[in-house]
Amino acid sequence: MASMLDLICDGCRKPIANDDGYLWVDTTEIRRTEESARTWEAERTDEADGSLSFSGADIFGYPEKVRWQAHHTRCDPAPGSGAYDIPAAKIRTWEQLLDWTAHLMEKSWLPHTDWDDCLRGVHRGGGRLVAASEADARNS
Ligand SMILES: [Zn+2]
Repeated sequence: MASMLDLICDGCRKPIANDDGYLWVDTTEIRRTEESARTWEAERTDEADGSLSFSGADIFGYPEKVRWQAHHTRCDPAPGSGAYDIPAAKIRTWEQLLDWTAHLMEKSWLPHTDWDDCLRGVHRGGGRLVAASEADARNS
């Protein structure tokens, strides 16, 4: 049996069936974060030699990553707003997850999102994207 992935809705915490939801990230927020990151770097770059220097405390001022969110269409708190979304039906298998990751790695903004956290622990469960249990797979 093929091993499947389930997206878990951030709203109601239930799995998102094939066509009624998506994994998405707010593109407006990404642009804002990119801008803050540029400012943060510019403020710490030596004008003479272009080197970047900062203290450990400065790290906390670095803009936070934009969170990928999973929602059923009906649970989406801001439907239709500027979002990059991946329909749940297109991210149902490990192969698709790998393809999306390769695709997203071409985007300059990916490091400003928490895609890494999204991937981490998929096999363990508890996150936005989880390996469907065999019982779920049998029922679907
Ligand atoms: Zn939901």
